[in-house]
Parts: sequence; C-alpha cells; structure tokens
Amino acid sequence: MKKVDVLIIGAGASGLMCAANAAYRGRSVTLIDHANMAGKKIIMSGGGRCNFTNMDASPKHFLSQNPHFVISALKRYGPSHFVELMDRHGLEYIEKAPGQLFCKDSAKDLLAILLTECEWAGVNLVLKTAVTNIIDLGTHKQVETNQGTYECESLVIATGGLSIPTKGATGFGYQTAEQFGLKVLPTRAGLVPVTLQPDLKAKFEPLAGVSCDISASANGVSFTEPMLFTHRGLSGPSILQISNHWVPGDELNLDLYPQGSLYNLLIEARDKHPKSHIDKILNQILPKRLVTLLIEEHKWQGIMAEYTNQKFENIAQLLHNWVIKPTGTEGYRTAEVTLGGVDTDDVSSKTFEAKNVKGLYFIGEVLDVTGWLGGYNFQWAWASGYCAAQYV
Ligand SMILES: Cc1cc2nc3c(=O)[nH]c(=O)nc-3n(C[C@H](O)[C@H](O)[C@H](O)COP(=O)(O)OP(=O)(O)OC[C@H]3O[C@@H](n4cnc5c(N)ncnc54)[C@H](O)[C@@H]3O)c2cc1C
Repeated sequence: MKKVDVLIIGAGASGLMCAANAAYRGRSVTLIDHANMAGKKIIMSGGGRCNFTNMDASPKHFLSQNPHFVISALKRYGPSHFVELMDRHGLEYIEKAPGQLFCKDSAKDLLAILLTECEWAGVNLVLKTAVTNIIDLGTHKQVETNQGTYECESLVIATGGLSIPTKGATGFGYQTAEQFGLKVLPTRAGLVPVTLQPDLKAKFEPLAGVSCDISASANGVSFTEPMLFTHRGLSGPSILQISNHWVPGDELNLDLYPQGSLYNLLIEARDKHPKSHIDKILNQILPKRLVTLLIEEHKWQGIMAEYTNQKFENIAQLLHNWVIKPTGTEGYRTAEVTLGGVDTDDVSSKTFEAKNVKGLYFIGEVLDVTGWLGGYNFQWAWASGYCAAQYV
C-alpha cells in the first residue's frame, strides 16, 4: 500500500497542472496515467503547436449547463498567468490570430515545461497504470491499480473526455462520478467535422481541399471563419465551432459571402463589367471549384448585362443562406472535445471538490465545461488544475 496526500488520475493538461501546483504546496503527489506517456493530446493539439491559451478567454467562450461555473477559476488563473509560466521557462510562442497563442516550434516544448515543473515540485509520475477499483474509506480513498494499491487523502479525476480514444481517452471519469453519486450530463462530440448525406457528399467530393471564409449559423449562434470541404463532409474552424451548437436533425445555415451584400456587389459588377460572365465575378469572391459547381447546378449563364435585379436577388439569397442538413458528425474519432460530462452543480467552483464526497475532485474536460475553438479548452484545463491544486 502506497500512501500519498494527493493521487491524480490522468496526466493530461489539467492533471499535470494540478500535480505540480499541489506538490509546490508541500503535498506528496502521485500522478498516474494508463498511457505510456503524459500529455498526448497536448502534443497533437493545434497541428502539433498547441494553441495553449486565448488572451481573450472569458466565461462567454465556454458552454456548460451552468455558465457561471467557470467564472471563479478563470478569474484566479487567467491566460496571463499561464503565459507568465511559459515566459519563465523561455517558451517561444506566436499569436496566430488575435489572442490565440501557439508554440513557435512544437507543442513538445510546452509539455517539457509542464514535466519539468512536476519534476521540480517533486511529483511522482507513474505511467502505464490502470485503475481497477476505488474504495471510499471516508477520510481516505483507496485506489487499486495494476501497479499496486494507493491510499490518498485527495483523489483528483483528470481523465478528460471521450475524444480521440486512440490517444487514451476513456469514460473513466464519468464512471467514477456515477460511482460516487454525481450526475453526469449526456455527452457528445464537440469541435468536430460534420458528415453529409451520400448524394451531397458525392456532389461535394470534387471540392475536397477547398476552403472559403463563411459564416456558419445554428441555434442563434454564428461563427465567421474558414470552412473546408473534405472527402467526408465539411470541416474547418467555422464548422468545428458551430458543431458545439448544432443539434443532430437541425439545419446549418451557411453564408458564403459574409463580407457584405452580394446583391450590391453584383449590381456594381454589372455596371462596371456588363460583358463579363458571372463566373468571372464570383471567382473573385469564392473558390473557383465552388463557383463551377454552383454555376453548373443553378445554370447561371450569360453575361452580367443579361441579369435582372431579381435574378441577382435570388443568387444573393441563395449564397447568403446556403442551407445544409448534416447527417451527423465524425464523432469522438476526430472530435477535439466532449460536450457534457460531470454536472458542475455537483462540484464546487472554488475547490473543484465534489459537494457530497469529501476528498474527491474533478478538473478539466471531464466536467461539463467545453470551450470554443481557439485555446479556450487548454485555458480551462490550466485554470481548473491550478485552482484545485490549492485545496487538494
Ligand atoms: C486533436 C486535438 C487538438 C486540440 N487542440 C487544442 C488546442 O489547440 N487548444 C485547446 O485549447 N484545446 C485543444 N484541444 C482540446 C484539449 O486537448 C483538451 O481540452 C485538454 O487536453 C483537456 O485536458 P484534460 O486534462 O481534461 O484531459 P486530457 O488532456 O485529455 O488528459 C486526460 C488524461 O487522462 C488519461 N486517462 C484517460 N482515461 C484514463 C484511465 N482510465 N486511467 C488512467 N488515465 C486515464 C489519458 O491518457 C490522458 O493522459 C484539442 C484536442 C484534440 C483531440
């Protein structure tokens, strides 16, 4: 039997953060993971460069049944705190889009910093360790694993969500929550590409690789960012963002010219270039392959001078309000996050301890807190991990 103050299950973003900070407080901390290395998702994130925070992070960038839950932790550990830590270690980073910070070279550099912090603080990191049973002994928890049994005062569940099972994701955190009587809200894949019906998929197949700036809307929420046609359906930032708000069965509304009024643009173009063919005009604002598909489908032919205002109105309507009904999403196989999870009503937003189970903590993505695309999910992992570390 190994006795520790704090046992953390899950050596991902939130677990590493919590481990280092709890150990700096003088707690004896063991961090276990069933994978053969810590922080696998950190390494694969942001195209290998990890979009590790967003300087603009605020509660409005998170989805949760209780939108107030994130306020306290984000206030106590904001983006600038994490940046300060990275600066102390000399990590070089770049701001790719306003507020979105990425490692300049590799996400491995950021993971190395977190591992160094854990080492300096004296965290005992044990990999390839699978938990087989947890027993509540009141003041302590007994955790049985394939590497022996631990007894701890504080047990922290930092096992993340269900996305990318090949990188070690499991439903362990949800099962543990249920074992201890916490409610788990229904989960579904988030920040994920959408799939299309076979006929639509076949129609768009020639567009695979084409990207364009659009505005995607569903359930009263819109995101104006690029969209990417893929062999399986639609992806790109705007689609990933809207997937968090889109509900299966609903339609997606896509504005293919969010920059302004397509009607005005066409009227102006007709005045200036009456002899131009419409494809020439549309090619200036949309990818050529998409224009070819639209023109073939809607049989828009002839020169601009032959088009009536009404015809332009119809074209503008169609492209500003392109309606697509996805069949679903690519699911956890490619999703960046999991929506839903451990009900935040059952967890303290100050300490992250379960309200009715002394010594049991939940941090990171396992909770019903999901950020938008853009570094918000890591910010949540750092903030919740740091704040819990002050109490475990
Ligand atoms: C492809 C991809 C790209 C992403 N890019 C970004 C990005 O650029 N910016 C951003 O903010 N967010 C990004 N995310 C989301 C971000 O990675 C997660 O929100 C974040 O890692 C969650 O941290 P966590 O500590 O809760 O869980 P994780 O980091 O997922 O860590 C959970 C850990 O628990 C371990 N574990 C799971 N089950 C068990 C078990 N039964 N026993 C023991 N250990 C277990 C896992 O092996 C893992 O190490 C991305 C996600 C993916 C999949």
